[in-house]
Amino acid sequence: MPGPTISSLTPPPIQPPASDGTATDRRVEKLLSRWWGFEHLRPLQAEAINAALDGRDSLVVMPTGGGKSLCYQLPPLVGDSTDVVISPLVALMKDQVDSLEAIGYPAAALHSGLSTEQRREIFDRLAAGELRLLFTAPERLVNTGLLDTLARVGVKRFAIDEAHCISHWGHDFRPEYRQMSLLRERFPMASLHAFTATATPRVRDDIIAQLHLRDPAVLLGTFDRPNLVYRVVPRTDRILQTLQILGRHASEASIVYCISRKETERLAARLAAEGILARPYHAGLSPEERRQTQDAFARETIDVVVATVAFGMGIDRSNVRLVLHTALPKSLEAYQQETGRAGRDGLAAECVLLYSSADVFSWESLVRKSAEGSELDPAEAEALIAGQIQHLHSMRRYAQAARCRHAALSEYFGQSFAAASCTACDICLGEADSLPDSTIIAQKIISCVARVGERFGVRHVCEVLRGAKTEGITRHNHDQLSTFGILTTFDQRATENLTHQLLDQGCLLRSGSDRPVVTLNDYSWEVLRGARVVLLREPRVEKTRTTKADADDWHGVDRELFEILRKWRRRVAEARGKPAWTIFDDKSLRGIAREKPRSPAALLRVKGIGEKRLADFGTAILDLVAGKKPAEDTGSGPV
Ligand code: ADP
Repeated sequence: MPGPTISSLTPPPIQPPASDGTATDRRVEKLLSRWWGFEHLRPLQAEAINAALDGRDSLVVMPTGGGKSLCYQLPPLVGDSTDVVISPLVALMKDQVDSLEAIGYPAAALHSGLSTEQRREIFDRLAAGELRLLFTAPERLVNTGLLDTLARVGVKRFAIDEAHCISHWGHDFRPEYRQMSLLRERFPMASLHAFTATATPRVRDDIIAQLHLRDPAVLLGTFDRPNLVYRVVPRTDRILQTLQILGRHASEASIVYCISRKETERLAARLAAEGILARPYHAGLSPEERRQTQDAFARETIDVVVATVAFGMGIDRSNVRLVLHTALPKSLEAYQQETGRAGRDGLAAECVLLYSSADVFSWESLVRKSAEGSELDPAEAEALIAGQIQHLHSMRRYAQAARCRHAALSEYFGQSFAAASCTACDICLGEADSLPDSTIIAQKIISCVARVGERFGVRHVCEVLRGAKTEGITRHNHDQLSTFGILTTFDQRATENLTHQLLDQGCLLRSGSDRPVVTLNDYSWEVLRGARVVLLREPRVEKTRTTKADADDWHGVDRELFEILRKWRRRVAEARGKPAWTIFDDKSLRGIAREKPRSPAALLRVKGIGEKRLADFGTAILDLVAGKKPAEDTGSGPV
């Protein structure tokens, strides 16, 4: 593609770094209200924006939903500069540009999917200084001569989104991110601003070193997401439990994670058969199929995506109300990131993990197989396996622990959690009841393991306990044992679940071979002697309580009007071919359905409504609030 000529490029005016305190603050607040319809910056946003305006490098670590985007979207408006954002995925860039265009903000994304004509247009706007933000991918930045062009237009600020991708120690390393060390060399006068949602201290140091950040402002947000309600439920019946949990979120956006591709398809088909608008998503589908599912989810024509972890980055739908893991994620980092997709709009959302210790064993054998099948030398492979197993066990401990989930997650990421009770997890809400006769049940299970000679797996032990007439039981004369048929209160699945709970608590052991058998240890004998008390959880789907956050978010909202507004938003999104949440997020819609504004001025007072949205949609919304049918959006509007 022929690039623009040097003479056609004039640097956009860049104002000197702002250090005039309150005047700049007022300017920033004005821009915030005018463009985004927000009243205040969040504290860390203010610091991040100040660093950008002062031209000081920064590393901003904020949880998903914390509002990172604004930290690089707002500064170029202050001095009418053109800033560059480096982002790992085309889908991420497109979503952001769509959201920005919806508020009239001049932004564009340079990626491989553009025609020559579209690219030329972007270069023209860049040359004319019209763009405030240009998004691009790291490989495009370094391999296409784009750096020369950016130098000519005088870019002074670069934001590196998802910056953990630069680190080997992160969970999502991308080699092409390493090339970004070039930025410092080529733009010694520019400031660099790295953003990420997950970074342990090691990853943070690595980002600073790799990007050669100079005396960066390191801004750490709190990792806790108070609007998320965490629950861990013993898995007894994946499909039944999924249906029950989804039942709490009818017509709401939900992501259901499974480990295997096959499971995503099976579960999605089952949900669809129940009338739920669900589709599967995994890396084995064609790019076209994946894109269609992503788009349908974005435009709210489907509610549920049943996915492997391939579904993730690039899903910016802000009103996801449920993230359900039907199997154990392989690390707390992954869990934090995947659950981070819930409730990005700050409204209450639920994260449920269906836990079975069987997953730990499946993961362990997968980890070993993949390391052994790799080209790593034996010592490296061992180190890799050890690292991954450590991650897995942190995840397992989290699932098993009977302590506040918010506290456990915060502490894992190196932050203390002050509140005595979070009122937003199964433990603090008192949902995790234990069986009244837990210790007796545990003794029955453990003695059965002893009676079968510590030579059988979970299923066989439980069949004996339940008094089943299987071929294996007859062959081994296990129907003659004193433990045959001594635990009939529970069905097979529930009994297996209880046994897994004992394994999780270390009251039984399981060999890690291909056909694992259950064995006893010192703790087992303590339980049998009555020297150790055991708490087992009811192996059923849990009861749930309404959380305070959820009740607050809906306080005063006319739900009927909210649904009307949602349907209208879906039609507008369809007509314009844009993700629904870029038109309006749920928070704004709930705000409208709560305040029921009757005039443009009242509408402007609703959070999330700035001048552009008022101009574009004010009439339609006021009509809807007044119970009138608004004119159909033809898609040719100004967005
Ligand atoms: P992140 O990139 O950190 O995951 P986003 O930038 O997508 O988070 O922001 C999350 C949500 O918070 C968005 O819906 C955004 O509009 C909203 N938001 C960001 N900053 C503010 C603010 N200062 N006031 C109100 N809402 C905000």
